[in-house]
Amino acid sequence: MTQSVVDLRSDTVTRPTPAMRRAMADAEVGDDVYREDPTVNRLEERAAGIFGREAALLVPSGTMGNQTAIKVHTRPGQEVVCEARAHIFNYEMGMIGAFSGVIPRTVLAEDGIMNWDHVQSAIRTRSDHHSVTGLIELENSANLAGGSVYPIEVSDEICDRAHERGLPVHLDGARVFNAAVALGKGVVELTRKFDSIMFCLSKGLGAPVGSMLVGSKAFIEEARLVRKMLGGGMRQAGILAAAGLVALEETPEKLHIDHENAKFLAEGLAEIPGVKIDPAKIKTNILFFGVPAGGFSASEVSKRLAAQGVLANPTSQSSIRMVTHFDVDRAGCGRALQVLREILAVTRSSASARTV
Ligand SMILES: *Cc1c(COP(=O)(O)O)cnc(C)c1O
Repeated sequence: MTQSVVDLRSDTVTRPTPAMRRAMADAEVGDDVYREDPTVNRLEERAAGIFGREAALLVPSGTMGNQTAIKVHTRPGQEVVCEARAHIFNYEMGMIGAFSGVIPRTVLAEDGIMNWDHVQSAIRTRSDHHSVTGLIELENSANLAGGSVYPIEVSDEICDRAHERGLPVHLDGARVFNAAVALGKGVVELTRKFDSIMFCLSKGLGAPVGSMLVGSKAFIEEARLVRKMLGGGMRQAGILAAAGLVALEETPEKLHIDHENAKFLAEGLAEIPGVKIDPAKIKTNILFFGVPAGGFSASEVSKRLAAQGVLANPTSQSSIRMVTHFDVDRAGCGRALQVLREILAVTRSSASARTV
């Protein structure tokens, strides 16, 4: 039997479980643009309930969820304060400018975790000369900063202080369930002070498609209109919502396994000569590591891994990202480490051969 591929490119690659497929096949549906899809309605009520909020909205992707929230919270010409590596700024196709007509005002913070001082330094108030802040945005876990997690006091303080200044705060919680597991808290405690929350059903939770916006009834009513503008009114979307409901019920309690696997990978990587990673920093299911200096580039390492059935994307000349999820088990992680060790051993011996 050929060995299956170990796909560590992202947790988006998770395939629907048998329970999800059954729920999809049996889903009761209606036209969701008319608000008549009972399964979508149930998913939205369930998501609102889990987050202790008034309402929620199913959107096709996390990008649409974030960009919808930004559109609702801001006016053209305003600024959105976010961390320099924020997904809304770097990985959403420039929509922040193209759709909402706002610009990012970024702050670089250690491990992607801003505190109130960072945010405050970036806020711009009414002036006759420059644009003003319209929204603060945090990301938890912080994807491009290695899946790091906001301490609750830090995100609470940012929300409280922003609110004192009349500024809304949006959470890109694509992986907020991972953040909650890392802190050993419920998502309500992490998110209760935010004005709006986006989370993905389609990442580590394992649903095939879908993200949710959560917030007040007034916010969600506005978001519904923006979703329609973007072509996100999905008709018999109960087929997708059914999988989302299963994901919400079944997966959060299993996410700790992905975190343990990420830690296992990080510790294994740290033992490979020249590989740069600090395992103590790995809190959730994402890790970045630096390839040894003077050897193969990250993209060459990635190609050689792929040739042996291990997928992981390069994120710069010298770094590679790995993301754990329920379709890769501990044995798969072990195999990824073994293949990488062999590839890097070749680099080292050819590098030393060159210097002879
Ligand atoms: C994946 C992700 C999103 C949304 O991505 P989609 O592919 O559009 O669903 C948003 N924010 C973060 C931090 C993400 O990792």
